[in-house]
Amino acid sequence: MTTTRPAPAAPTRTGGAAPVTAADFIELDDAWCAHNYHPLPVVIAHAEGAWMTDVHGTRYLDMLAGYSALNFGHRHPDLVAAAVEQLGRVTLTSRAFHHDQLGLFCEELADLTGTEMVLPANSGAEAVEAAIKVARKWAYRIKGVPENQAQIVTAGGNFHGRTISIVSFSDDPVAVADYGPFTPGFVNVKYGDAEALAAALTPDTAAVLLEPIQGEAGVVVPPAGYLREVRRLCDEHGVLLIADEIQSGLGRTGEVLALDHEGVRADLYTLGKALGGGILPVSAVVGRRDVLGVLTPGSHGSTFGGNPLACAVGRAVVALLRTGGMQRRATEVGAHLHARLGELVGRGVAEVRGRGLWAGVELAPEIGEGRPVSEELARRGVLVKETHDTTLRFAPPIVVTTDEIDSAVDTLAAVLAEIRG
Ligand SMILES: *Cc1c(COP(=O)(O)O)cnc(C)c1O
Repeated sequence: MTTTRPAPAAPTRTGGAAPVTAADFIELDDAWCAHNYHPLPVVIAHAEGAWMTDVHGTRYLDMLAGYSALNFGHRHPDLVAAAVEQLGRVTLTSRAFHHDQLGLFCEELADLTGTEMVLPANSGAEAVEAAIKVARKWAYRIKGVPENQAQIVTAGGNFHGRTISIVSFSDDPVAVADYGPFTPGFVNVKYGDAEALAAALTPDTAAVLLEPIQGEAGVVVPPAGYLREVRRLCDEHGVLLIADEIQSGLGRTGEVLALDHEGVRADLYTLGKALGGGILPVSAVVGRRDVLGVLTPGSHGSTFGGNPLACAVGRAVVALLRTGGMQRRATEVGAHLHARLGELVGRGVAEVRGRGLWAGVELAPEIGEGRPVSEELARRGVLVKETHDTTLRFAPPIVVTTDEIDSAVDTLAAVLAEIRG
């Protein structure tokens, strides 16, 4: 029996002609792609390093770097070479068989992060989900929490991804609305408030899950000493600390891990975004052997997790970070970025937060919303994105130069000056 599918709603594009202009491509996206993003009206066709070029040949300075998935810039030659080399050998085996990249990737990533074991996955949300599963299993098998009672403490303003269980502990109304019923077992406490965290810990607490710096919240850095106190409380109560370093990790702040600045070690880390070098999705949970060791064959899995292509690119990412050059550059160019953005405080900017090559620019009330500012910056060749209503996030590829930073900040200064009149 054959079934005929109803014809899809006709797109407004004329006569099926091949799209040419940016307007054509935007119309096509609007007609056929689910509207779960509100992109700036720029259509990219090519990119290299810190620069992107649109379908008309206009060049843009990329100050977003794919939400930090492009820490090493677009098409870094070492990463492209590793991908091309692996494409010529084998790309996918499934974990039903061993392959010659997996163990090396896990060993090298563990060595880079000072951890003992690696669970490979694909997206960031998938890594966070896996860390939650591992923490719960650890709580039942090792800590002795009664079945189905394990709790995980999370922080207000968090962003850990988009799955049902992860949005179950989000307090962003837009991310949560209409998706219930939600997964139980999570307790949200105020970020940066160690006393609130202490009060939420119970004998059934399996883990504390938080971002060392909250990225999507607007590059929010917690008060000095907070993360050390979180670690101390976790030790005192026999609770795992899970650091979500999917955005903060892998060079962005000037260290491999943002927690390294605090001299604090987590029991598990989630990594993603830049781990795939901007080429393909690669994520991982890394951490203690006695914690990840609770996983047994069949108890967790992923068809694509740890595939040869992902491992080959991941190994090249690790090799880039092993020299420390990227981290030094993020520190130096980041200091320049913060110094230059700091000059705008009182001139359309209320506050600049962040660490390394990562800045949340809080616009002053007289500027209003961030969206028109990012639209105007795009018209002038600088791509940033507002997060929430009034924050602009600057997270350029680490290969950006101080001259390019100057040009981006000068453009922002000009836009803000015009809005202020
Ligand atoms: C982006 C992000 C995630 C989710 O990663 P996806 O690959 O989009 O699923 C999780 N945690 C943090 C801190 C992130 O920034």
